[in-house]
Amino acid sequence: MRKLLLSAASIFSAVGLGSFANAQARPLPGPDVQQIYQRLLPQIEKIPAFDHHAHPGFSDDPDVDAMAAPPDFSEALRTRDDNPELIAAAKALFGYPYADLSPDHAKWLIAKKTELKKQYAGTAYFNMILDKINTESSVANRAMMADYLDPQRFPWVFFADSFLWPFNNQRESARNPDEGVYIPLQEKMLHRWMQQEGVSKLPPDLDGYLKFISQVLEDNRSKGGIAMKFEVAYFRPTTFGDPSRDQAADLYSRYATGGIPTEKEYRTFQDYIFRHLVLEGGRLHLPVHIHTAVGIGDYFNLSESNIMNLESVLRDPRYRTTTFVMIHGGYPLEREAVWLAAMKNVFLDSSFGELAQYPSAFKDTLKMWLETFPDKITFGTDCFPYNDVLGAEESYWLGAESSRMALAAALAEMISESEISEARALALAHAYLHDNAVKLYEGRVH
Ligand SMILES: [Zn+2]
Repeated sequence: MRKLLLSAASIFSAVGLGSFANAQARPLPGPDVQQIYQRLLPQIEKIPAFDHHAHPGFSDDPDVDAMAAPPDFSEALRTRDDNPELIAAAKALFGYPYADLSPDHAKWLIAKKTELKKQYAGTAYFNMILDKINTESSVANRAMMADYLDPQRFPWVFFADSFLWPFNNQRESARNPDEGVYIPLQEKMLHRWMQQEGVSKLPPDLDGYLKFISQVLEDNRSKGGIAMKFEVAYFRPTTFGDPSRDQAADLYSRYATGGIPTEKEYRTFQDYIFRHLVLEGGRLHLPVHIHTAVGIGDYFNLSESNIMNLESVLRDPRYRTTTFVMIHGGYPLEREAVWLAAMKNVFLDSSFGELAQYPSAFKDTLKMWLETFPDKITFGTDCFPYNDVLGAEESYWLGAESSRMALAAALAEMISESEISEARALALAHAYLHDNAVKLYEGRVH
């Protein structure tokens, strides 16, 4: 009750400042909403952003992701190659002179990029792209870092899934064509971590395996890694049991050197390793990023990877010193997802939502989030180099532009509906585009 009185008092003081026409919020925006939008957008365009989730790189670089796209998957409308907005992206970034992306015209774009890569050698090229979209720094969620990305502006987020796959994966890879692509890449990633640590075969017992995992995390952190990322929803259900260390140790000793665990046995082992990694994320101050949304591939199982499956982990007090970032904010379950951010250590990233949806729909997502936990939401693009023509450059642009427009529109409605003042709206814009995410890394990013 005391809280209610306080918030009523703050509303009245705001009215006293002349920020609101009414003390009671209205259900519809007024005729001024367009004007407010036009006024906000240029100010929002000027806010230097921190991109909390992206896959920068060139299309021929296999380290852009720890997994690959499965064959012949169904693309949602806006993420198809023929999206005309990508022509707008090429115009804005490169002065593309044509109105279509026919193969002949696309050659112009490839030649232009080749020329610019020469002009902006080394790390200068992607820095120049960030400058063009007013992004100060962008997470590089990549298998390994690239020498053509400036670590000052592209902090590395590495992948942690491969630690879940140390056994014989024959049955798991055969589950469907998508897993046939994904799981062997996890095996490859695990071997790269082993190479990094100079380990030629798996340690003989669980203690040794956990030590090896910690060593990789610590080394990745000292190489500039700011967080670990799971895309586990692509590989198995995101419901995690809570097995004992003895159970995990028994399974490790039975299968580390051969034999195929049953599905149940493998998942029990993975449940333990996942929880161990979450604890290590707290100990080492490495926030844990988790893919929480639909995924590419026709076999991606939405009900088994529902973001709410993670609730028992996120609300477990044992993990309160671990910072969690729900990458893609649970889309299309972003309405439920925002209530997970009630936990002080849980944050939502909006990337992919701004690409999967057009700004008119993404505006509603952002508005609902801004009206709930505006201090717990962060901006990201999920940019990715789709191919030579439609590179990370264009998806950076589309993601950043879409997010800024949707943000301006959401805030304009909130102002017009007498929910917040214009000054508060701009503070929320800074928080979403930059400050909320940067705070999580304790001075390691800017
Ligand atoms: Zn991503």
